[in-house]
Amino acid sequence: MNATVCNPLLRTPLSLIIDDSCPVINLTYYWMHQWLAWRPKHRPDLPPARWEGNPIVPKLSRTIPVDFAKKWGEWCGEQGIRGKFSFIPFPAGQGRVDQGFADHPRHLLADWLKLTKEIIWPNFDLTPEMLTHSHVADIKTWELTPQWEQVDWVNPPVEKLTDYIATAMQLLKNAGIPCEGVTSPGAFGKRNEAAYSKAILDAALRVNNNPRPFYFLWLDDRKPPGVPLWHAQKDKGIAIASVWSCAGDWFGSWTGFDKGDPDRFITEDLKGGRLPAVLEKELPCVLCGHWPGFYFEGEEFGFNVLKTVKKRLDAYDPDKTKTLWMKNSEIGHYWMARELSDIAVADGKVTITTKFPTANFTLKLDDCAAKRVQVAGADLRQVASRRDFRSGTFLVEAKATYAAFPLKEGATVLHVAQQGRVSLA
Ligand SMILES: [Zn+2]
Repeated sequence: MNATVCNPLLRTPLSLIIDDSCPVINLTYYWMHQWLAWRPKHRPDLPPARWEGNPIVPKLSRTIPVDFAKKWGEWCGEQGIRGKFSFIPFPAGQGRVDQGFADHPRHLLADWLKLTKEIIWPNFDLTPEMLTHSHVADIKTWELTPQWEQVDWVNPPVEKLTDYIATAMQLLKNAGIPCEGVTSPGAFGKRNEAAYSKAILDAALRVNNNPRPFYFLWLDDRKPPGVPLWHAQKDKGIAIASVWSCAGDWFGSWTGFDKGDPDRFITEDLKGGRLPAVLEKELPCVLCGHWPGFYFEGEEFGFNVLKTVKKRLDAYDPDKTKTLWMKNSEIGHYWMARELSDIAVADGKVTITTKFPTANFTLKLDDCAAKRVQVAGADLRQVASRRDFRSGTFLVEAKATYAAFPLKEGATVLHVAQQGRVSLA
């Protein structure tokens, strides 16, 4: 008998990342206006961006309605979609999530917090996307500096980094949201990922006592995706996971006025596009879109792309045996358990020793047709098909046994009694 860790419940993780979302304001409106004021003064050498000069820019909405967020969040909940939703704590420097937005009606922040906590949070990790997602803020005076988080801090000043990230986390915590990780605004931190990921981990431990956070920095629509782990301390149960997106924003873009295309994710015949290629390899399939693009100035173009993509993903996996929607933090925790646990097999017994607990831990036992599997002395229920395979059950297929259960910290012992063999237990 040999034991290996499989994907959770033998299903490939699916996850939806939402960037640039924040309470009250439309980040893109402020981001673009701050950029237009800054560039001629500080970087006249830079050519104008593609969006500059578009007549829609001055007319963009300053807010994205909380009613849209409610509709979007409820729909995602009904559909079983899970992922990560940015909640920028000091968006474009317009107001703090724990204090308020001076230029907007007072009740809006309270409405946003209530909606986000009740409707979105159950299915999505809420993260900072650093402090402002525009200019770097001075965390002593709360003034915006001429530096940009995603320009100047691509190669971040390491000595300031942990305090800056911890401040972003603290504002969310003050608003009642202890975050599970962070999102990088653009390429923030990218050129010194070792220092950046260490700073996130240190900040997560400091603010939320969270030893197993995640971050979202990388998006690659060509390479096979993975979940790299950084700074793992196996004996202490400490590590940080980098959750990669495998697809571009083909919803409605960060601008909120550039149309995407569902076919780039998955075509109607379910064969073309990026997602089937990733799902066939059974690699974590993480989609990414930007909040203003789902709203699309009220046209909801990106939201409609999401509806089409979800319908096609459901058709791709009609009996829900191939895919499993997960939050980013759940993917991070699973990969830590998968890569940082010790598994020993001897005499019909499998012992897993770990500091990295996870839900839906799934083991394959080769060369083993089990008639009884016990985890920590309690029986797993045998099921006959993958459709019924869930945590707390085992399944025998050909000459292998699959067992799924919540993995707890410490040592977990599986007792396996095989068909046609005399049990000595
Ligand atoms: Zn962003």
